[in-house]
Amino acid sequence: MAVYHPFPGDLLMDASDRVMAVKRREMVQSLRQKGMVNERVLDAMQKVERHRFIDRESSVHAYEDSAYPIGYGQTISQPYTVAYMTTLLLERCPPPGKILDIGTGSGYQAAILEALGYRVYSIERIQELHDRAVGLFKSLGLAISCRVGDGSLGWEEEAPFDGIIVTAAAPYCPEHLLEQLGDSGCLVIPVGEQAMQQMTVYRHVGERFEKELFHHFAFVPLIGQEGWN
Ligand code: SAH
Repeated sequence: MAVYHPFPGDLLMDASDRVMAVKRREMVQSLRQKGMVNERVLDAMQKVERHRFIDRESSVHAYEDSAYPIGYGQTISQPYTVAYMTTLLLERCPPPGKILDIGTGSGYQAAILEALGYRVYSIERIQELHDRAVGLFKSLGLAISCRVGDGSLGWEEEAPFDGIIVTAAAPYCPEHLLEQLGDSGCLVIPVGEQAMQQMTVYRHVGERFEKELFHHFAFVPLIGQEGWN
């Protein structure tokens, strides 16, 4: 059984927030046991209240290490996956910097990036998910710039970016995204078949892009001009 040791901030919370804070610490502890050991990333995941990013009735599931439906056939990413991608980005492009987050979805990944001190720009193709995320960011006081559009084409008006993170499965690496990376910028993107993709990092070094390959994951498809039809 978990023993509850109150933290100073917890005393200002109501009972259900306290329960959530305990569950969040357990989630962070389990991520650590699974090898996610970047303290800055874990701190951000301790701070951001994942239960705000899924519907209220499902909040008991908020701190399980699994993806969860958010409507419109989409999911909030699994905490492990968020920690994994965020660590890849942070180790190569530490904050502060300008990050493009593609696939706003629930807004959770964008909020984690914001908590780390990045300036975050986020694109979502589904209007309703965009609207919901914008409302949530506003109520949480998060300064994240959002728009509706095809993220496979990037966000040209705001380029270049220090980092780009794509939380949907791409069949190949979109050219537009590489073009919008600044010097030393890096792109973290799952690339592969619809059923399974390999986490891939592209780093802009001078005139070239260095590519690194990591573990396999299963994301919902990136739908767009440089994604799936
Ligand atoms: N980062 C999200 C994960 C959402 S799942 C979170 O933390 O909750 C992936 C999201 O990518 C879905 O919301 C889907 O609608 C969106 N998406 C798919 N193709 C896209 C595209 N071309 N441009 C922008 N968003 C896209």
